[in-house]
Amino acid sequence: MKEIFLMKLGEVVLKGANKRQFEGRLRQNVRRRMKPYGDFDVYIMQSTVYVEPMEETCDVDGAWEAAHSIFGVVSLCRCRPCEKNLDAIFDACQAYLGEDLDCAKSFKVESKRSDKQFPLTSIGISQEIGARLADAHPDCQVDVHHPEYTVYVEVRDFAAYVHGPAEPGAGGLPTGVGGRAMCLLSGGIDSPVAAYMMAKRGMEIEAVHFFSYPYTSQLAKDKVLELARLVTRYSGRMTVNVVSFTEIQEAIRDNCPEEFFTLIMRRFMMEIAMRLAKGDGCGALITGENLGQVASQTMEAMTVTGAVVDIPIFMPLVGMDKEEIVTIARKIGTLETSILPYEDCCTVFTPKHPKTKPTLGQVLHAEQKLNREALIERALASVEKIKVAYHDEALL
Ligand code: ATP
Ligand code: MG
Repeated sequence: MKEIFLMKLGEVVLKGANKRQFEGRLRQNVRRRMKPYGDFDVYIMQSTVYVEPMEETCDVDGAWEAAHSIFGVVSLCRCRPCEKNLDAIFDACQAYLGEDLDCAKSFKVESKRSDKQFPLTSIGISQEIGARLADAHPDCQVDVHHPEYTVYVEVRDFAAYVHGPAEPGAGGLPTGVGGRAMCLLSGGIDSPVAAYMMAKRGMEIEAVHFFSYPYTSQLAKDKVLELARLVTRYSGRMTVNVVSFTEIQEAIRDNCPEEFFTLIMRRFMMEIAMRLAKGDGCGALITGENLGQVASQTMEAMTVTGAVVDIPIFMPLVGMDKEEIVTIARKIGTLETSILPYEDCCTVFTPKHPKTKPTLGQVLHAEQKLNREALIERALASVEKIKVAYHDEALL
């Protein structure tokens, strides 16, 4: 008999009135994420997502791996459905988990009965199935306190399910329930992690990347698109807005005092990102800024760069140590790509002595020779929109 996945919902179950909307979204997300692996039926009952392969040709291992990166799921297991009687449950345990029991020194059975019509209590099921399994596996002792292996039996509405220990899910909230935000995505370590973290809180993510050809290369751009693709493993599809930033950077170099170069450049980035965000239905910006990491990430610098924006700027990494950020980058698989050595436009025309405690007045004065509006409009006219999804081919 076939194998199905049971995925337990996380915080979703706590959200009373929103529960329906959350579950609807999660179901839609799971459906979409299973699609590349074949025809799967996806439904939710009793705060559990059921994922059932509908044809022999389904790539169940591929789907299982993908299921680990769906936000809103706290834990998941592969299990074997069977009829709701003790003989069928025992047979399913033997056929599906027998080998695991042969490898373990001790075990216990843990049962849950949500179908209260079932004639035995949970404890009764565990005792009965445990005794039969102990007979069938004489080298594996019952140990209810510290078992090496646990057999789970769940008697639900339409069937019983047996499985081994569950694995941790991606956690967080289902993508889409937290609104949509535009992430300023560079080729560094931080911004892909920032995008991941806000996606984990249920946000749909779009991205903007500022690109200064010929000061930065095509490879630098491909690297960012590849990072975006890696983030979509968790966030779902994404559109990357690639903005040509060369004219703005040259205008700043030619018309502004050097110590303000980076700040002025970042004010352009923020404003352009905000306008793109509003055009694409995004209610917030996301950056990978981190307090004190570089000159443009002091509180004063953030005040000056944030002043051009009237929507929230989410900085999920602001209070983290670099080590903590690197650990997440490694876990989500973006680190290796991030550390490839291609130039980012932030490193073009970097001032020798950047201003770390600027005031807004100083910066407004420093950028007064620029025709901001005309520069921004031309940059917006240059935007190239590139769609990326995890199943696309790797770019690097
Ligand atoms: P990262 O590792 O994300 O590049 P960083 O520590 O290098 O961050 P900065 O270069 O100061 O820091 O950039 C701070 C934030 O500004 C980035 O996290 C990102 O959100 C945004 N940013 C920087 N450069 C670009 C770019 N070329 N395009 C889009 N966003 C950018
Ligand atoms: Mg950077």
